Amino acid sequence: MSSVLDLARPELRAIKPYVPGTYEPGCIRLNANESPWRAPGDTTERGLNVYPPPRPTVLEEKLAAYYGIEQRQILVTRGSSEAIDVLIRGFCAAGRDKILVCPPTFDMYRLYAAIQNASLVRVPLNAARDFALDVDAVLAALDPAVKIVFICSPNNPTGQSMARADIERLCRETAGRALVVIDEAYHEFATHGDFLDLRNRYEHVVLLRTLSKFVSLAGVRCGLVVAAPELVELLQVVLPPYTFPTPSIELVAQALSQDSLRVSEERVQVLKRERDRLSAALRDVPQVVHVYPSDANFILVKVRDGQAFRDTARRANILVRTFDDPLLANCVRITVGRPADNDQLMRAVSGAEQERHA
Ligand code: PMP
Repeated sequence: MSSVLDLARPELRAIKPYVPGTYEPGCIRLNANESPWRAPGDTTERGLNVYPPPRPTVLEEKLAAYYGIEQRQILVTRGSSEAIDVLIRGFCAAGRDKILVCPPTFDMYRLYAAIQNASLVRVPLNAARDFALDVDAVLAALDPAVKIVFICSPNNPTGQSMARADIERLCRETAGRALVVIDEAYHEFATHGDFLDLRNRYEHVVLLRTLSKFVSLAGVRCGLVVAAPELVELLQVVLPPYTFPTPSIELVAQALSQDSLRVSEERVQVLKRERDRLSAALRDVPQVVHVYPSDANFILVKVRDGQAFRDTARRANILVRTFDDPLLANCVRITVGRPADNDQLMRAVSGAEQERHA
């Protein structure tokens, strides 16, 4: 019977993993060519003079418990950006294989594919249906060289979750043909559920998660691949040992304590309420042509003149994002901020309107 591993680069399965020096608390460690002294100012628990563990297993345990996932299904990476890179390097042979993306979407899928010299198949989302997935077109665009289909849900930068029926059909019909990687970087802000059940049902379905958004740790760089255990094992060959730094391990562990999680979860609720408030307020701004529904911590709006909207916000010391992509002409992505930040934005864009109409 064929396995999901048959989709991976065959040479990876033959690579003999690196064997790191062992670490045993209480033993003098003369097996890893490290410094015996802590650096001045080193306040970490483990000590920065010694290498981090080859894999952050303590974190894997905590993340598994938090997300309700088996530990064997988790690979911790430096941000989910690195997870994208590891998957592409693991499954796409340079100069031969391809990935499929559904633009407008997160640009790093394209970037890492380009670095690996994997080509890009683009099947646009349906702009007329608030950027819904075009499953027929995705399936029609598959060929044996397409090794990964990247789906982002909720999608960056359009904001909406993909319809469950579409994702289910995609997963069902791609079994044995390509990996389906569902990037759930924003799922904590979604009112729709996640796709963990599909991950458990299909070995070719992979989820990406990140701690950059909902637990306020973008600076720590912690993401994860959630995949079938045999796939996690394979990807560990692509991601060499010692990649996850000690300070990040300790900071993520703190963020996953009950007290910190309670604060993060409350903040997610505030951002969701602010997202709805800001979306409603933006609908009343005459410059605004359309406010796309959002399940994330940002809102995409189509305005009459994207540049002018961005400049107006900039004059009020607020940065919002515009795009070169013609699929996003005159679209502006606004991250939901604190209530006072959102008020300031609204004052700026509504005020500009009043001036223009005065
Ligand atoms: N996926 C999506 C959809 C994103 O929007 C982002 C960050 N903007 C990432 C992945 C990467 O996030 P990180 O590397 O911080 O985990």
